[in-house]
Amino acid sequence: MEVKITNAQMTAIKKAGIKIGKVRARNLLKDEEGLWAYSAEDLTLILQIANATYRAGVPIMSDAKYDALYVKELESKDPKNEFLTSVEPEPVIESKTVELPVKMLSTEKAYSYEEIERWVKRLVKAAGEINLDLSELNIRVTPKLDGYAAYDDGVKLYTRGDGSRGQDITRAFDRGLTVAKGGVRGSGAGEIVIKKSYFDEVLSGYFENARNIQASIIAEKKVDERIQKALDEEACVFYPFDQLENWVGHYQTFLSNFQDILREIWDSVDYEIDGIIAEATNSSLKDYMGSTRKNHRWQIAYKVNTEITKVRVREVVPQTSRAGKLTPVAQFEPTKLSGARLSRATVHHYGMVKSKGVGKGALVELVRSGLVIPKIERVIESVDPDIPEECPSCGSHVVWDGDNLFCPNTTDCPAQAENTMIHFFKTLRNVDGFGPKVIEKIYQSGIKSIHEIYGLDVEKLMEIGFGEKTSENLIEQLLASRTLEINDWRFLAAFGVPRLGEGYCEKLLEHHNITDIFDLTIEDMINIDGFAEISATTIHEGLKSIEKEFQSIYELGFNLKETKWAVSKSDLLLSGELIVFTGSMEHGKRPDMEAEAKILGAKIGKSITSKTTLLVTGKSVGEKKIAAAADKGVRVLSENEYLQIIKKH
Ligand SMILES: [Zn+2]
Repeated sequence: MEVKITNAQMTAIKKAGIKIGKVRARNLLKDEEGLWAYSAEDLTLILQIANATYRAGVPIMSDAKYDALYVKELESKDPKNEFLTSVEPEPVIESKTVELPVKMLSTEKAYSYEEIERWVKRLVKAAGEINLDLSELNIRVTPKLDGYAAYDDGVKLYTRGDGSRGQDITRAFDRGLTVAKGGVRGSGAGEIVIKKSYFDEVLSGYFENARNIQASIIAEKKVDERIQKALDEEACVFYPFDQLENWVGHYQTFLSNFQDILREIWDSVDYEIDGIIAEATNSSLKDYMGSTRKNHRWQIAYKVNTEITKVRVREVVPQTSRAGKLTPVAQFEPTKLSGARLSRATVHHYGMVKSKGVGKGALVELVRSGLVIPKIERVIESVDPDIPEECPSCGSHVVWDGDNLFCPNTTDCPAQAENTMIHFFKTLRNVDGFGPKVIEKIYQSGIKSIHEIYGLDVEKLMEIGFGEKTSENLIEQLLASRTLEINDWRFLAAFGVPRLGEGYCEKLLEHHNITDIFDLTIEDMINIDGFAEISATTIHEGLKSIEKEFQSIYELGFNLKETKWAVSKSDLLLSGELIVFTGSMEHGKRPDMEAEAKILGAKIGKSITSKTTLLVTGKSVGEKKIAAAADKGVRVLSENEYLQIIKKH
């Protein structure tokens, strides 16, 4: 394969301190097929080159190739290689290197479910050693954003650098970078990311990938006007980790539902992600396990292996989902990818079919990341595509909503009704037998809702056309589904309200009773940590539409296990406060006091801004500083006064 290395790439390589000439670099990169013969040193060198160019926004290879070919090969050759285990340096920005306010560790990586299981075993073992009740061993799962890691202390923004020293890139905020979800400055570690949908729609025609844009936001030279617009429209944001969509649950639930959780978290954000991060939530366990020089022992990243291949599309077929959305499914010659034989893959939406020209004869790049269903990420040769005008299930005239085509027939569309039923029984998990074929047959007999299925008996099922044995089994299963204990959040998730997956259901029921959820306002939902406004609006609407059906099914009597209630952040003593600690403290070290305030719901700032609400002063704080704070309307407390307030509680 012919490899081209541009001058910009060569500059990035040199700046990163990698000593290699253009010719040798080209020769190294040229032989993808013959990688098995490469030494670990050569592979490391290629990966270093890839990193340097990637960080500079002029990547020499795609992320998929990086993971799927080179990292994999190095892992198989030398699994303990320093390169694979160390925090990756970010050498391209020309700013002064400064000490980071806190150490930013890297995350240990797992590439298989077995590695995740081993990690959980280590947690369980450590929990045993400190006599932690295993019922309290919870795991928090968040998406692993694939952006540009940075740390915001409220005043400056830093790159992660080597983990201890990074570079000052505060200019990104000066240029209008905002904090995701309307958050405030000073939330600590996070990633600079760009909305996937915005990139696809607005920027993909001008920039090769999101990487170039991230690099440009933090680089010294003036930003491109398109990128400035993306900043102004808040399509590029700094996303603090503690604001991320998340799933929290018991470690056993985490293990047994791993794939579902992965999928849910994967779909929870509109940003590029390359895996998930799982971590223990119990603070004494975290303290006990501590960290190595590079990683926290209580945290792990699950990175999914990515493989890519090219296929020629035979046909694109629409499928109506339970929410009425038409999913374009591309069919092609059976192709092997990540160990599976595939002959179909979904295209993101009909907007992409239309704008990128995915139709019969198109050549597309197929990507499969671990467990995730294969997706078409790139169109190499486009065609003039067919856009359906009718719902394939009920024949209704379909309508556009944003990038999606919808079947508006919510009451009588067989696909929507059948998929709703299938989803219900599949999500309950304690019922067998109600798969697509059985449901189709039941639906065709005129039964159009789940509560009517519960009204069936053996005779009626036999009338519909099932054998006696099958009918008896199905009735038995229905009974079991009501008598076996089931988590109330799972029961709620079974109704398939858009955006109300299992994780959100659990979160919702940590704050409200299942019988009260239909009375909640959008406001009530946003008050729950992790519910964004758009999700809350959709969920609110969705709940209204299932309310009647929910009540008729709920009244049948299910054996529901109530979710334990959580303390909401807004109930905490210091919620809403943005506190700055200054001077030396007597009660404890300043970082410890800050950590304590955070637990009580406060945000911590490093210097006084218009958003600061409280200044806590230790010893030897100048009058000037106090006066300046008072001028800004900040409440000033001595260390003792502050301790009085928090001790009362
Ligand atoms: Zn339809």
